[in-house]
Amino acid sequence: MQQAQRITNLPPYLFAEIDRKIAEARKQGVDIISLGIGDPDRPTPESVVEEACRQAHNPANHRYPSYEGLPEFRQAVADWYRRRFGVELDAEAEVVTLIGSKEGIAHISLCYVDPGDLNLVPDPGYPVYEIGTFFAGGTSYKMPLLAERGFLPDLTAIPSDVARRAKLMFLNYPNNPTGAVAPPEFFADVVAFARHYDLLVCHDAAYTEIGFDGYVAPSFLQTPGAREVGVEFHSLSKTFNMTGWRIGSMVGNAEAVEALGRVKTNIDSGVFQAIQYAGVAALRQENDHPRVMSRLYQERRDAVIEGLRRLGWRIEPPRASIYVWAPCPPGLTSTAFATLLLEKAGVVVTPGVGYGQQGEGFFRISLCVEVSRIREAFARLERAGIRFDAVAR
Ligand SMILES: *Cc1c(COP(=O)(O)O)cnc(C)c1O
Repeated sequence: MQQAQRITNLPPYLFAEIDRKIAEARKQGVDIISLGIGDPDRPTPESVVEEACRQAHNPANHRYPSYEGLPEFRQAVADWYRRRFGVELDAEAEVVTLIGSKEGIAHISLCYVDPGDLNLVPDPGYPVYEIGTFFAGGTSYKMPLLAERGFLPDLTAIPSDVARRAKLMFLNYPNNPTGAVAPPEFFADVVAFARHYDLLVCHDAAYTEIGFDGYVAPSFLQTPGAREVGVEFHSLSKTFNMTGWRIGSMVGNAEAVEALGRVKTNIDSGVFQAIQYAGVAALRQENDHPRVMSRLYQERRDAVIEGLRRLGWRIEPPRASIYVWAPCPPGLTSTAFATLLLEKAGVVVTPGVGYGQQGEGFFRISLCVEVSRIREAFARLERAGIRFDAVAR
């Protein structure tokens, strides 16, 4: 049976060859250190797990949940936004529960994009922005995130006919994969741009709670006027080590919240209520948890930066997220460099090209492994003669 073009035309999976080499090395008993996986290694807080167990025993939670989300969860999200950002949200009209934020990010294009429409998508960026656009029949216009601009898109470089045709603009700060943060002035420019061209800003805020050296990330919705032109995706995944639970939310513009709710009621039936109650426990009782995790990630970040600098990299530490984004040695593609580290040292990093063409020439190190493993990884790279300026081939 011939498959649909939306499946056969998916971009090729870029890491198949590297994955094959990792599997092969593991089979031969090589101790692989993976700095590639962006999935918190620490467990979900105990109070959250306990609440989930307790609620799972209640038969009232064994029924279909409501598609827009449990009122208690949406209220907990609204209360958390007020405490954390000083942003007032109407839990009923301005919050929708998601099966993880990825689900909402993938589906929001179905609400706004008709075949032939354009979305503005950051490059490099989280691949789901582009895939969601594509599944809705739209086309992505790539906004380059360049190092010399602090990995913020240059809004003035977007041609006005493109901006006029665009329906959505995806942004993500603190950023995956670059670790960049956005100053409030940038968000103000984004609001003005979105107003002028009548487009919806979709801010992916997966990493607002992981900050270093005292940095505290803002919400896009703190920007004056943001609610008129935008929504924000929030996730409990990185904030509370809950990637496996599949829970998040989209908040902000009420029309967009209603539209996504309408799409979702036709596709899924919401999140198991016991998990939504676990989310309530996380948002209400675990306010210190992200700070504790940030301190841990900061130690790991420092170990990575120290390791890179010892090998000749000149690099500034990121102020947020769980990633370090670094240039590859001159003359090597990101895939070639990642393959070299794997073969010479049993160390896995993610080639930047996996996040878009502008990611070529960079690689991403994730902070989801212990400091001792990070040190071991860099000791191996040193022994293998890996240096920024003179890679041993
Ligand atoms: C991890 C991640 C997400 C997905 O989070 P879930 O809530 O687990 O779906 C969204 N955006 C970015 C940039 C991420 O890195």
